[in-house]
Amino acid sequence: MDCIFCKIVNGDIPSYTIYEDDIVKVFLDIEPMSPGHTLIIPKKHYNNLEDIDMDTLNHINKIAKEIYTLLKEKLNIDGMSIVQNNGCVQDVLHYHMHIKPYYNENKGMSVEEVFNILKNE
Ligand code: AMP
Ligand code: ZN
Repeated sequence: MDCIFCKIVNGDIPSYTIYEDDIVKVFLDIEPMSPGHTLIIPKKHYNNLEDIDMDTLNHINKIAKEIYTLLKEKLNIDGMSIVQNNGCVQDVLHYHMHIKPYYNENKGMSVEEVFNILKNE
């Protein structure tokens, strides 16, 4: 299947991965809405919210909570929205959850800079 996110899971396309386990991969969006814009995807291919199973969804939510804490601690984000697109508003047809940070003051940082901050313990 010609799926860009499956290729990221398989390592065929590079990504700024900040976390992974057996079920999910978490990486930075390459066209971020703001610094720290992150995507959480299941490693197994599901098209969207209709065909993903509840165990995987629950795990993705648990990881979202942890990523929110990480972004608050490391990037000092002031707010965050979770977005998950389906149907005519979904561009990549592999389920993904957006973690979109908000800042009281605009922050200019490249994806690489954000990655280095998040990866430095
Ligand atoms: P959507 O399907 O509309 O929910 O959004 C897809 C998102 O995937 C967009 O925000 C893209 O910037 C992002 N995206 C597409 N290709 C890549 C990639 N290779 N690495 C990271 N993010 C990507
Ligand atoms: Zn896929």
